[in-house]
Amino acid sequence: MNIPIDEVVEALVKSKYAIALTGAGVSTESGIPDFRGPSGIWTRNPEAERRAYEVYSLFLRDPRRFWEEYLSTSSILESYIEKAQPNPSHFALAELESMGVLKCVITQNIDGLHEKAGSKNVIEFHGSIYKLRCVDCGARYPKSDFNLIALRDEGKLPPICIMCGGTLKPDVVYFTEPIPRDVIVRSLEEVRKCDVMLVCGSSLVVYPAAELPRLAKRKVPPALIIEVNLEPTPITIEGISDYFLQGRTGEILPKIADGVKKKLMS
Ligand code: NAD
Ligand code: ZN
Repeated sequence: MNIPIDEVVEALVKSKYAIALTGAGVSTESGIPDFRGPSGIWTRNPEAERRAYEVYSLFLRDPRRFWEEYLSTSSILESYIEKAQPNPSHFALAELESMGVLKCVITQNIDGLHEKAGSKNVIEFHGSIYKLRCVDCGARYPKSDFNLIALRDEGKLPPICIMCGGTLKPDVVYFTEPIPRDVIVRSLEEVRKCDVMLVCGSSLVVYPAAELPRLAKRKVPPALIIEVNLEPTPITIEGISDYFLQGRTGEILPKIADGVKKKLMS
């Protein structure tokens, strides 16, 4: 397939405010499986998908039991994430930001790898495994600030917010849980400002994140949507993507970043 890298590079160099929206696909080359890709966790184990939909309602019903279960079961995804390092996809996006071309990364990933690769303006749309969040005031804390095992052994679960006394949950946004308000406000502001959106490694079936490229495309004038994925997604099929670059983000994004660098230096 002939990939129009040059046109995409040109569009990025000309852009005034380019942003990226990333999904689990940018981290598969770091050894973290996605959910719905060809060898995704749910593709291989549909029962895990069913269980994922029950976690949030348990937290709402019984936060203490939620935390006890959280501490006694090991999450497959978290065990992969803890061992992972950024890959060329993350570094390419960080480089595009340091060159002043990319202004923000909105990621659906919870793995912290964009920040680890050097991206500065990152919105963690679905939270982070490394943080806890207060359900009342929205304050976030590093998970490492809490000795959760000691709290459990002392019968003091759930952990409590130091700012307001509210209940803390993992910052990760569970299925059926609303996206935190601050995250929605920041993301919509980025979409409002963008003229190019680079959508990378997302199946675009999880809402409301999947709405963001659609909103960008409905603006007047519409943002240019550049999609990089192993396989077509609903936005490819619906014609929302202006460019569809089929392949691995770890291969295509560095080519884009190199092209932008050469163009800026010429
Ligand atoms: P998804 O699993 O639904 O889809 C991943 C997409 O990326 C698929 O379309 C797949 O074909 C594509 N892909 C996989 N590897 C790729 C590669 N190397 N190059 C290009 N494309 C590739 O992921 P999603 O859309 O992000 O939604 C799943 C939800 O699960 C997200 O909300 C996210 O929070 C969570 N999740 C996060 C992680 C993580 O933090 N790394 C991992 C799994 C799931
Ligand atoms: Zn609070």
